[in-house]
Amino acid sequence: MIKKFIRKILGVKDKPARDLTEPIVLGPEEHGIDPKLVSSNAIRVTSSLQEAGFKAFVVGGAVRDLLLGVKPKDFDIATDATPEQVKRLFRRAFIIGKRFQIVHVMFGQDLLEVTTFRGAGEVNAPKDEHGRVLRDNSFGPQHEDAMRRDFTINAMYYDPATQQVLDYHGGIQDIRDKTLRIIGVPEARYREDPVRMLRVVRFAARLGFGIEHSTQAPIAVMAPLINNVPAARVFDEMLKLLMSGHALACLQQLRKEGLHHGLLPLLDVVLEQPIGMKFVTLALESTDNRVKAGKGVSPGFLFASLLWHQVVEKWTAYRAAGESPIPALHLAADDVLDSQTEQLALQRKIASDMRDIWSMQPRFERRSGKSPYKLLEHVRFRAGYDFLLLRCESGEIDMELGEWWTAFYEGDASERESLLTSERAAPAGAKRKRAPRRGPRKGAGAEATAGGNSEE
Ligand code: ATP
Ligand code: MG
Repeated sequence: MIKKFIRKILGVKDKPARDLTEPIVLGPEEHGIDPKLVSSNAIRVTSSLQEAGFKAFVVGGAVRDLLLGVKPKDFDIATDATPEQVKRLFRRAFIIGKRFQIVHVMFGQDLLEVTTFRGAGEVNAPKDEHGRVLRDNSFGPQHEDAMRRDFTINAMYYDPATQQVLDYHGGIQDIRDKTLRIIGVPEARYREDPVRMLRVVRFAARLGFGIEHSTQAPIAVMAPLINNVPAARVFDEMLKLLMSGHALACLQQLRKEGLHHGLLPLLDVVLEQPIGMKFVTLALESTDNRVKAGKGVSPGFLFASLLWHQVVEKWTAYRAAGESPIPALHLAADDVLDSQTEQLALQRKIASDMRDIWSMQPRFERRSGKSPYKLLEHVRFRAGYDFLLLRCESGEIDMELGEWWTAFYEGDASERESLLTSERAAPAGAKRKRAPRRGPRKGAGAEATAGGNSEE
């Protein structure tokens, strides 16, 4: 009675709290996972571990996708075996990571990540002054591993042998309700790892799920905490978001949650400037379509598109100040890449692809002599050409230039010759005086092809 009274005063709900150390166990007829969607290599890993006496489950995003009837793109495995014990069981297994070791098990091209159950050390782990967890390496029992995961729908375990799903946090119900719910106290979980705010947005947009109120509410206030996360980690998460096949929806949702503002310099640039929006929208749509069609997407192309508007602005300014077009473009590219590399940890390979794509653009204007043939041989011609077409479609430049290049690209030898002849009559950019050569480094960068990147 007194207990009940105290609970009432403290505002504790009377509903008996579920014991979070015991999972709800669902059989195949309850969860309806199609065993054919489970990769045979994932089964090889779990069964080898189980035969050696360990617990082993498919976990995380793969279980979520299986429950949604979607074939997972990769399978993560969780086990109570230590990394050393895992490694010993497989011929091609590598322990990676210094702080928290995981094991990569390879079968041909297929890579599976095997992680030892993590302990609930997050609370006591070393943190930065904002409360972000810096390190925590503790192993623990399965229910603590479940507690450490981000959202209820990502905290389920599937055992291919028994075909049972273990659900510690009501993930099944949330899948049915299409709801994203963070595990634990939302403010605390975002503080420990602010990247979870980006993740919830990505999952909401990608899965078409709603965000449960208390999971969503703190985001607007806590968004600036992302600034303390190492740039490389934010970049990785951004890349996942942009390559998710739902990039446009993700960016719209980021904006809705107030997560773009002052958060990523890149997004400020992209989302705050309606002028570049048409171009960016087209670029993201085409990226999303490629991902959905199972085609590859180059991060360089993506970022080159997202930042093109900024490049054009600076390019125009340098030209207005008297620079010739091509050097002006290089200066503009340098400026944009410098600022973004610093803040966004743009990887060098990506930055060099972006520079290639941008610096090809004025070269498309030369439609006579040997120039077009030389451009066709550029290793990244296809990316540069696709980029040119986007510029045409967005209305930035005349459609006619894109059509000319399509005809030239697809034409046979004589068609190409005749296109060149007709162009001689129409001068436009073609007769422009050759731009003065710049210093060797930048000059080499402009022509950089595979060789330019191979130092990576
Ligand atoms: P995707 O389909 O995009 O790979 P995913 O859920 O598998 O989605 P991963 O980044 O591969 O995402 O992470 C695998 C699992 O690890 C997640 O499902 C979640 O359980 C856990 N996890 C990942 N990142 C975090 C995080 N920042 N905080 C807590 N748990 C996380
Ligand atoms: Mg995953």
